[in-house]
Amino acid sequence: MHAEIIAIGDELTSGERLDTNTQWLSQRLGELGIRTLYHSTVGDDLAANVRVFREALDRSDIIVCTGGLGPTADDLTRQGIADAIGVELELDEESLARIRSMFARRKREMPERNTIQAMFPVGSRAILNPHGTAPGIDIRHERTGRAPCRLFALPGVPAEMREMWEQTVSPALQVMTGGRRVIRHFQIKCFGVGESDLEQMLPDVIARGRQPSVGITVHKATITLRITAEAENAAACIEAMQPTIATIRDCLGTLIFGEENEELQHAVVKLLRARSQTLATLEWGSGGLLADWLSEADSSSEVFRGGIVVRTAASLAATIGERELGGVAIEEHKVIGRLASHARQQFGTDFGLALGAFPSDRATDDDPGEVHFAIATRDEVCSKSVPFSGHPDILKERATKQALNFLRLLLPPSV
Ligand code: ATP
Repeated sequence: MHAEIIAIGDELTSGERLDTNTQWLSQRLGELGIRTLYHSTVGDDLAANVRVFREALDRSDIIVCTGGLGPTADDLTRQGIADAIGVELELDEESLARIRSMFARRKREMPERNTIQAMFPVGSRAILNPHGTAPGIDIRHERTGRAPCRLFALPGVPAEMREMWEQTVSPALQVMTGGRRVIRHFQIKCFGVGESDLEQMLPDVIARGRQPSVGITVHKATITLRITAEAENAAACIEAMQPTIATIRDCLGTLIFGEENEELQHAVVKLLRARSQTLATLEWGSGGLLADWLSEADSSSEVFRGGIVVRTAASLAATIGERELGGVAIEEHKVIGRLASHARQQFGTDFGLALGAFPSDRATDDDPGEVHFAIATRDEVCSKSVPFSGHPDILKERATKQALNFLRLLLPPSV
């Protein structure tokens, strides 16, 4: 049994509005153990709606659509469903009374055009909308020689759609599936190697068709392993994932920095907090991103005491003092350690973390340049340089993550 989600509206196909309903519904269907095979998006055009519904009624067992249930001329979902199934629309007096009373409670007369919201394809049932005028539609479409297709139409307004899903659609689907299977996910976050190198370190777990399945995605140099298990309940899913999680942890070791929605800054703040240690930063190429991420991760300001952001060699010299820099033209790889020490001293912290300038305009494909990092403690300074690689759009995030990862790997898990 698989599902299809249909999002309806010109505001979606024109790119004016992002279709978040489909993402949300796919996740909820997945939690019920129902796989979504198709996402369709269609504008406010009756013929196009009918075509999309016909195709979906033929190829999918469950359809959830959102949008187009309003009272205006461009709200075509009711008619689209009726035409695709080949039935008429008929008035549902009970729904009309509800819509009228909703207007009465707001001390308004119901405009005549809202009557259309009480029109339903013959053979369908209304889905109660507790906080809006547009009821949803629930209909079974019989198919010869096959199980029927069940279609649920919900309003586009995300809050109304979600409430109606929780109250009506989800319980109905649980009855249909016998509530037997649920799907759960768990994410492991990694940093420090490329996607294919990481995949080679996990020879068996990525295989197609494996249970639990493991998928890899990369976003701005952070690699996420998403483990998916299907079982009779959530606890059984979590139990089924444990051997896979243990294998991944064994194979990847310190490449793993966190789980679920954790980012590198959360991992660093957690490690420093456990050791009751503090951090200050000085950043040149990243325009304050390092300080921004650390501030967000350390909302109580226990760990991250402050950061200095410079944009040019001149502003660096003015901030730190020519003498401290050695009084000569700044050779970044030579001064980066001093920058980390300066940050540490300025804020009186245990660690100073410095992130250098980005490659100059002179960088070429053959010689992309390097970014320099340094960490200073009371007793020592260590630094490293990494060649730049990747698309210019992600340089800032990648370098900031490299700086955080450099520090993370220097901090053992416990003192
Ligand atoms: P209404 O009775 O409010 O007219 P409706 O079912 O006709 O409900 P639409 O008019 O299509 O819904 O959309 C109402 C609001 O919900 C709009 O602000 C729209 O941008 C938003 N919306 C519609 N579809 C989606 C979607 N797929 N994802 C996110 N927002 C959506």
